[in-house]
Amino acid sequence: MFTTRITELFGIEHPIVQGGMQWVATAELTAAVANAGALGFLAALSHDTPEDLRGEIRRCRQLTDRPFGVNVTLLPTLREPDYPGYLAVCTEEGIPVVETAGQNPEPLLPPLQEAGVKVIHKCTSVRHALKAEGLGCDVVSIDGFECAGHPGEDDITSLILVPRVADAVDIPVLASGGFGDGRGLGAALALGADGINMGTRFVATREAPVHDNVKQALVDASELDTRLVLRSLRNTLRVLNNATAAKVSDMEAGGASIAELAPLVSGAGSKEHGLEGGDVHAGLFAAGQVTGLIHDIPSVAEVIQRIVTEAAAIAGGRLPGLLSRNPHIDV
Ligand code: NAD
Repeated sequence: MFTTRITELFGIEHPIVQGGMQWVATAELTAAVANAGALGFLAALSHDTPEDLRGEIRRCRQLTDRPFGVNVTLLPTLREPDYPGYLAVCTEEGIPVVETAGQNPEPLLPPLQEAGVKVIHKCTSVRHALKAEGLGCDVVSIDGFECAGHPGEDDITSLILVPRVADAVDIPVLASGGFGDGRGLGAALALGADGINMGTRFVATREAPVHDNVKQALVDASELDTRLVLRSLRNTLRVLNNATAAKVSDMEAGGASIAELAPLVSGAGSKEHGLEGGDVHAGLFAAGQVTGLIHDIPSVAEVIQRIVTEAAAIAGGRLPGLLSRNPHIDV
């Protein structure tokens, strides 16, 4: 329906990318996205070792014969991930595209580029997008302040950041942060992006491997129900506002260190008690302001089909209709 530089570059049907969400972006979700004609990403850091990631890539290949990628997030962690090991597995397994996110990916790029792996770099500012382009990244994914997880420290929303980056770089741009329906896709394309990246919307789908309580909490949440934590450490994280997030905020106000916060913010803890256990107050859950636009828990294919159909109706129906009602414009 929509052909953009993103659909052409990756040989996919729709200009929609699924964020490589820690703990959530498993083979089941990624393959469902790929089978629905969009681009899914496995999350490398959900796996303790590179060999575990290899197993997940092979499991995903059994579920889809379409292309998918691997996300390698480069933000601070409570452990020391084996980044070169994860990337070696990606090249050995013939992964066509890797998404780096967070910090400067420069040291990790040579083996990927030598192997012909395409790189999407996700970042939160114009200057970092320009840097990624200069390093030879193939696509920049730009995260507005609305986004789930780490929005950076500049607090610029997608409405400004997407056109700023689209003007600044020549490579294709993915708009990320605040996108969850066809109006968002239509807007992103109008702003100069070549597609959208979505995370939170894909968590509230039947295939996402998280407890139903967490999915329902996203449906029940409005756009007012996220909270920024870890800002005191300059590693701001947007999460669903729950008892743990409130406690973390209180501790940060009191000057708590990462060592003191670790038991509350640990991703492994959130996974065990929340994402798997279903206690929606146990741990932090990355969630974007798009929660205000999420009202149901459909299949991945329904989400994608609904978004492209709605965006096409806007681009082909509503907007031309508005123009044709203006007697001063000849369409
Ligand atoms: P983790 O359990 O290692 O850490 C939990 C949280 O504490 C993360 O937000 C991490 O960035 C932060 N943190 C850890 N050490 C820190 C330090 N020294 N200073 C400041 N902050 C620190 O993380 P995880 O849940 O296993 O996730 C793995 C990686 O994926 C992390 O880097 C995390 O930030 C990232 N992540 C990104 C998103 C997103 O951007 N959408 C969402 C979830 C996780």
